[in-house]
Amino acid sequence: MIPIANPIFAKNTSKYLNECLKTGWVSSKGPFVERFERKFATYVGTKYAVSCTSGTAALHLSLVALNVGPGDEVITTAFTMISPVFAILYTGATPVLLDVDHMTWNMDVSQIEKKITKKTKAIIVVHIYGHPADMDPIMALAKKYNLFVVEDGAEALGSEYKGRKIGSIGHVSCFSFYANKLITTGEGGMVVTSNKNIAGTLGSLRDMAHSPRKRFIHMQLAFNYRMTNFQAALGLAQLEIVEKLLVKKRRIAYYYTQFLKHQEGLQLPAELSWAKNSYWMYAVLVKKSPKISKSVLQAALADKHIGTRDFFVPMHQQPALLSLGLFKNDRYPVAEDISKRGMYLPSGPHINRSEIKTVCDIIQHQYERV
Ligand SMILES: *Cc1c(COP(=O)(O)O)cnc(C)c1O
Repeated sequence: MIPIANPIFAKNTSKYLNECLKTGWVSSKGPFVERFERKFATYVGTKYAVSCTSGTAALHLSLVALNVGPGDEVITTAFTMISPVFAILYTGATPVLLDVDHMTWNMDVSQIEKKITKKTKAIIVVHIYGHPADMDPIMALAKKYNLFVVEDGAEALGSEYKGRKIGSIGHVSCFSFYANKLITTGEGGMVVTSNKNIAGTLGSLRDMAHSPRKRFIHMQLAFNYRMTNFQAALGLAQLEIVEKLLVKKRRIAYYYTQFLKHQEGLQLPAELSWAKNSYWMYAVLVKKSPKISKSVLQAALADKHIGTRDFFVPMHQQPALLSLGLFKNDRYPVAEDISKRGMYLPSGPHINRSEIKTVCDIIQHQYERV
């Protein structure tokens, strides 16, 4: 059996977790939280990092810290895991969607400007499946129209845009440490920024906005989104091997590409000249053909106990959002198309070359049969 993803745990994991037990620091006020935050900020290349309970919480905190609220519009991509759109809605703001680029599946930057209105306050840029979005034009528009840029790097920790790590380019950036992300804390998230005021606000919002003078006097509506010392201990151990994990992901992608590059029925993941792709998942598009469809390939793989996953369903087709009256007559043709034809192949760090070859042989065999 080859699962779609599964975590690897670093050597120091049990040592750090035991330290939490021995010292009794199990809640959020423990030394690992600060150590994890400091090391994470250094890794991404920002001045500050504020840990929290999930990637979704990180996005919510970011928007609240940037004063996004009712009456504001936030532009994001139609093709994403739903968290950015949920986070926008938590604040009472309105999500505005963009279609995506057919190569990278990230927001089509040529369409941003026409979506900007007087109400636009921010852009949430999702780096999908590990490929960075085209940040320069986004930052230029943000400057021109005085908008905040929030990077959602949940799927792209370690990816680079023109030699800079993603997460260090926008005003605020968010990460997730769910089990299938590059590094995991079980559940967890992080917001990074180099703006001292925003970092202070984020820290306060995550922890109930206690008055700095007197605890339990609360200065504004806030949240308990605190990461535990346990989670941070796990995260610190993972972060110590992040480069190793990244090399593994890129090697997995290399093997898949070697075995599949002559298969004309598939569009393989892109890595544009200015990009370093972290290949969070090895994602492929099944090209339109009367003979073979995505479901045929998925069934053949499932038959051999090999997991695959469909691409995300676009935001304008999500029942939760349609039931709120959003995106009623919206069409995002590229997002709709790739969602139907896209799947990702097993990409967990345990998978080895021969297992990857097995997966690819099964795919090749299906094309040879027809
Ligand atoms: C995983 C993910 C999130 C949410 O992270 P959680 O920790 O599961 O809340 C947000 N955005 C993207 C793009 C993701 O892939």
